[in-house]
Order: sequence, then structure tokens, then C-alpha cells
Amino acid sequence: MSFVRMAALAAAAFLFALPHAHAQRPPIQTTKVSGTDNVYVFRNGGHQAMFVVTPDGVIATDPVAYGKPDGGRQYLEEIRKVTDRPVKYVVYSHHHFDHIAGGKAFKDAGAVFVAHRNAAVRLKALKDPHTVLPDQSFSKFRTLELGGTKLELRYMGVNHSDSTLVMRLPKEKIIFLVDTIPVGQFPARGFIDIDPLKTETFIEDVLKMDWERMIPGHPGPGDRLGTKDDARNMLQLLRDASAEMKVLAQAGKCWEPAEKEFALPKYKDWPGYENGLPFVARRYCGVWGRGT
Ligand SMILES: [Zn+2]
Repeated sequence: MSFVRMAALAAAAFLFALPHAHAQRPPIQTTKVSGTDNVYVFRNGGHQAMFVVTPDGVIATDPVAYGKPDGGRQYLEEIRKVTDRPVKYVVYSHHHFDHIAGGKAFKDAGAVFVAHRNAAVRLKALKDPHTVLPDQSFSKFRTLELGGTKLELRYMGVNHSDSTLVMRLPKEKIIFLVDTIPVGQFPARGFIDIDPLKTETFIEDVLKMDWERMIPGHPGPGDRLGTKDDARNMLQLLRDASAEMKVLAQAGKCWEPAEKEFALPKYKDWPGYENGLPFVARRYCGVWGRGT
């Protein structure tokens, strides 16, 4: 076999190996965020969370163990591979169980659970057997300081939920924000949770903040982190979807005729377009067809 042909085959094997490797990757993975000393992403299946290691202990976020009875313990074990310092805090990104269920192992190890006040109220009412109730809650802003690291917890109004926090590491210019700004993909099923008009304002405000990278609650393509371009793209998508449905709804076509006609061809090549479109349509029919 010629060298050229071998090289071509090797190149082809490499190219085909990428998606295969992605499909075959381990269900649980911990990755240090490049360019940081102490910021990690823990991924369990299609969900992920940020944790920060300091000399005085660890600040963890979302247990991401919904439907995974061992998920919380496995998360703690992953942290233990990085440090033997205690986990001092677990912060909930918002109140949805698919991100926050499974914290018992952290609670048993003595962590203090922190969430937005609306999350605390909602969780207390719902009493999910797998979700640890917050020990502390706040309404607008709080800074956690531990071992020389500052993590700002900021509530900026209703968006994907009424309890979503924007967590910011000012030194690293990194935010951890879950479900409101998908990275490199069309919004999915969870769009039915969203308050679309308030989310536009929310994203405008997030864009004004000082950050460069966003750790999302669901991995982006190739596990890349989000950028302000992702936020701008999502904002534009919301504006386009809203304008499109507004015309259909005000012509009296919601629900069904409008949902059938609704299309956003500009976004047809985004991963998840076909699956996500009906949920976006339904939600905006709610807004413009019913005022909800
Ligand atoms: Zn959510």
C-alpha cells in the first residue's frame, strides 16, 4: 500500500473515529476547564454540573442524578479523585429535578445546600423523594467565598424557570447557566417550561455581564463550552420564533393550523431542529394565541 493511500486511510479512520468516540464515551466524566486552576465539569449522561476546588473545600453544583440512584454518590467519588477536601456547598442551578435530584450523598457528607428562594418554596411543596431540600436560600444576590475563590450567585428574573441562578466566577470570567441558552443546538422539549418574552430580557441582561465562557447544563457539540455568540444566537432565535408565531396567532390560527405552518428555515441545520420545533411552536402559540 502506498504511503499516500495509507495516509488517506488513516485520515479517514480519524474522521470516522470522532463521532464514534463521542458515542462510546463513558457515561460519567470529569473534565478540568482549560485555562483554570480549579474549575471542573462533571458530566453524567446528557447532564452536567460545575464544581470548584479550593484549599478550604469544594463548591459543587447540581447533582444531576435524576433516574440514576447512584449518581450523587458517583459525583462525590469523582470529586474525591480530584481532592480530599470536604464539599462545603451544593448550589442548585434551578429547581428542575433532572438537574438537582440525587444530592443525598453530599448531604450525608455535610454539605450546605443553597438555592434561589423560589426553588426552596417549590421543592418544599413538591417533596420529591430524591431531591434534598435547600438549607439556605436568597432572593437576588449572594457571593460564596471559599479558600480564595469567589462564586457569585445572581437571580436575574424569570427565564427557563423562576428560580434559575446565573453563577459567575469573576476571576475566570466563567458562568454556569442551565437550560436557558442551549449551546450549538436548537431548543428541545424543555422549551415548554420557558417564559419566552421574559427570557429575551434575561439574555440581554446576561450579555451585559462580564464573562467569556459558559458551562451549560447539557453538553454542547464536542463538549464545547458556550460563548456570548451562543447567547446572541439564542436571543435572535427567540425573536425570530416570536415574530413568526405572532403573525399566525393573530390571524386566529393557534393551536393547530399555526403549529402546522410554523417553521424557522433559517435554523433548519441546527442540531435538534426537527425535534424541537413543535415545542417552540406550542409555547409561542401559548404566548400570542392565548396570552399565556
Ligand atoms: Zn430545567
